[in-house]
Parts: sequence; C-alpha cells; structure tokens
Amino acid sequence: MIDADVVTVFVAALLTALATGLGALPLLFARASDRTMLGLANALASGVMLGASVSLTLQAVDRSAMRAWLGVAAGVVFILVLSRYLHAPHRELGLGSLRGDDALKALLIVAVMTVHSVAEGVGVGAAFGGGETLGILIAVAIAVHNIPEGLAISLVLVPRGASVQSAAGWSIFSSLPQPLLAVPAFLFVDAFEGVLPVALGFAAGAMAWMVARELVPEALGQASVRAVVVTGIASFGAMLVFQAILL
Ligand SMILES: [Zn+2]
Repeated sequence: MIDADVVTVFVAALLTALATGLGALPLLFARASDRTMLGLANALASGVMLGASVSLTLQAVDRSAMRAWLGVAAGVVFILVLSRYLHAPHRELGLGSLRGDDALKALLIVAVMTVHSVAEGVGVGAAFGGGETLGILIAVAIAVHNIPEGLAISLVLVPRGASVQSAAGWSIFSSLPQPLLAVPAFLFVDAFEGVLPVALGFAAGAMAWMVARELVPEALGQASVRAVVVTGIASFGAMLVFQAILL
C-alpha cells in the first residue's frame, strides 16, 4: 500500500470537480427549447439526481443506518428551510443572467448539488486515507459520476436562458467542496469517518426533496405524464446501473 500525500489528494479531487463541467457539453447540441423539451430536461435531471441519491443512501446505510437516517432527515429539513427562504414573496433573485422563478430553480439546484459535493469530498479524502490505490479508484469513480450531475445542473440552467459556458462554470462550482474537503478528510480520516454517513444521508435527503418538490411537479406541467415517467425512470435506472459499474 502506497501512502498518498496531500498534494496528490488535492489534485485528484480538483480533477473530479473539473469533470463536472463536462456535463454541460451535450447542451451545446441542444435545439432551442420549447416547453416539452424543458419538461423532458426536468424529468431527465430528476432521474439522474434520484439515482445518485439512492446510491448515496446505500453507502451511508452501509456505514451506519442510524446516522444515515439522521442525515437524510437533516437534509430534508435543510432544503425545506432554504426553499422557504428563497420562495419568500417579493424577493429579487438573480443568478447570472437568470431572474425570478428561473433564478430560484437555478439557485436551488446549484445549492443542493454543492451541499451534496461536501459528502463526496469527504468520501474522496477518506478513501485516500486507506491508501493511494483506493483513493484514486474512488476519485475516478466520483469524477465520472460528476459528469451526469453536471448535466443535471445544466439541464435546469440552460433551458432557462443560461449559457452553456456559465452552466459548465456553475457545475464546476458545485463540485468545489470536493478539493476543499478531501484534504482535511484525508488528514483527519478517523474523525471524518464518523460523520461520513450523516453527510452522505444529508446529501441524499436534500436531493430527493429537490426532485420531488421542484423538478417533477414542474416537468408534469410541461410534458405529458407518460413522457415524464418514461424519461424519469429510464434516466434513474441508467444512473443506478452506471454507479453499480463504477463502484
Ligand atoms: Zn454525486
């Protein structure tokens, strides 16, 4: 077993963050958005996020079911409070060129995905604590898994008027907790192992809430129920298969 050093951990986690930006690239080829396309984009993003939250929950439960449950509950409460705050009437929201309700959705998805990266940053750092080989394996897995998550973010941002470049930028932003937290998690691996199931559960709860409360209802208002269900379940299944192959 080769011991990793701090620089390796930081660089590996930085590369995983940059990979998130690749998720915006398919949007370069997207046609001008109509309502149905927006509904399908929301359904696709829902499936990806739900798939990611299921695998986060499974990883958390593997470590400690009780802490995982606590984390999920805390994640739901967090996003509930955050969205209450953001939904408050007369609040002038802006995110880049987006305004009003579009900015609200964009802010929510960027916030939720950034919070969920915290758990993954801790995961990468803790894996490097178990040796360089394990660390690199997990970092590669997280990097590849970040690409569809960047796509999920871009699918919410671009149809609402954000440029592909800024969607890539926000995708990378949402993964910045990975390099920032991987290093302390690596240095203090024992302390972080204890909170990891809570952090994983927290991320899963926040993501599941975002899907159920924001993305799915919106998708149903834009595309037919059948199209939303088929797209959502197909992307959910694809994300689960993808993660099973990776880890
Ligand atoms: Zn993730």
